[in-house]
Amino acid sequence: MQASPILIRAATWVLSAGPGPTDILIESGRIAAIGRELTPPAGVRVIDARDRLVAPGLVNAHWHSPMQLSAGTSDRMNHKVFMWENQVDTANRSQEEIYLSAVVGCLQMLKSGTTAVIDHFPEQGFGLDDVATVVKAYEDCGMRAVVGLRIFDGEYSDIVPPAERMTPQLRAALATGNTLQPRPLRESLDLVRAAIDKFDRTAGRIRVFPAPSNPVRCSDAMLVACQQMAQELDTGVHCHLLETRTQAELAARAYGRGMVEHMEAIGALSARWSCAHCNWLSPAEIAIMSRHGAVAVLNPESNLKIGSGVPPIPALLAAGVPCAVGTDGASTNDNLILQDAMQLIAILHRAQEPERRRWVTVDDAIAIATTGGAQAMREGELGSLVPGAKADLVLYDLSAPWWIPLNDPAQQLVFGERGGSVDTVIVDGAVVVENGRHTTIDEKAVLNAARAILPGIRRRNAGVHTIAAAIAALE
Ligand SMILES: [Zn+2]
Repeated sequence: MQASPILIRAATWVLSAGPGPTDILIESGRIAAIGRELTPPAGVRVIDARDRLVAPGLVNAHWHSPMQLSAGTSDRMNHKVFMWENQVDTANRSQEEIYLSAVVGCLQMLKSGTTAVIDHFPEQGFGLDDVATVVKAYEDCGMRAVVGLRIFDGEYSDIVPPAERMTPQLRAALATGNTLQPRPLRESLDLVRAAIDKFDRTAGRIRVFPAPSNPVRCSDAMLVACQQMAQELDTGVHCHLLETRTQAELAARAYGRGMVEHMEAIGALSARWSCAHCNWLSPAEIAIMSRHGAVAVLNPESNLKIGSGVPPIPALLAAGVPCAVGTDGASTNDNLILQDAMQLIAILHRAQEPERRRWVTVDDAIAIATTGGAQAMREGELGSLVPGAKADLVLYDLSAPWWIPLNDPAQQLVFGERGGSVDTVIVDGAVVVENGRHTTIDEKAVLNAARAILPGIRRRNAGVHTIAAAIAALE
């Protein structure tokens, strides 16, 4: 979607350049110039930005589009219970269901100021047709995205009870209805490679990465192969990492060392990796992440909702680990409001840190949600409003009550406004939201179609429900 040049005229404030009036000229998907009273080229489209804050689009660096229809279904569930309940809602979906749940999420994100996302897609076995469908959703929505193809060749041993606690009914249900059966290593790698060949760099803004589900569910061979494939094809690698204490314990038992120590030792860690959660990293593992430049993608709302841990944000930042932020899927965090996650990044540790000068700042939180996310996506020219940067930006209406009075736009973005005043959204130089409405998606039709999907999926997955209910009874 390569659009004609755009001149954003007389913005009241540009984050983080300061007060205006400031003009921003966008050409060929990039910011061509920023300054006062720029001379517009012929044929330019002018957007009046008086009473507007212009901010970089936020980057949601960890999300699961398949879970998007499960908002409001999972209060007081821990990691093991939610993981199985979520299988009931996401396994065996049709192409239309895959498409609609991604588009509903894209609409939520774009309309609240998020312009780019890493979608850790899907959990169960998938085919090239499924990848084509979700890529089409991002293409149609005009969003920037990484589709991380979630693979594993080991057991989900972190979410099944140990053998001595397993009931005969649960064992039988797992034998017949387990949607998380590992696929052979070679098959998964061939599929990911084929998907990258076919879909990576679609529309110039949709990437496809290998995305091991979680290193504790993968063989060394798979982890090393993902690193090698990323190197060869110049992609990133996305994964979950040490979300729960159980995962840290499983790694210690299997390898006699921390998961990250093991990944480093086998050559499966580099700056190409972005790792969601990172709640249970040891100090030694934080140092390793820093040394390799691997990105920690923080998901504080998800971690608090399902009680899986607290990300060590000040320690990560102090050690120089690049950080990004994600919402995670709707089962563990029912909203995609990245401003909420930014606020938690800034305040989560304050009660435990008596020295206020060590607290995470608003500027840290904004950098994590913009340039940090860009680093996770391996988009070096994304996340800031400077000449040459990719033109993903958001205009907030400063006449909306959340901004009145305008004291400090950065603080009010993190601690106050929640996306309700998003007026115009530009991704890759194209206007995708105008006056708060998507410019190409028929929102009403999509939302109506998505309303009725979930009961049908649940009926289809009654076998998985038996497992989920048995796990919930044990947990
Ligand atoms: Zn996740």
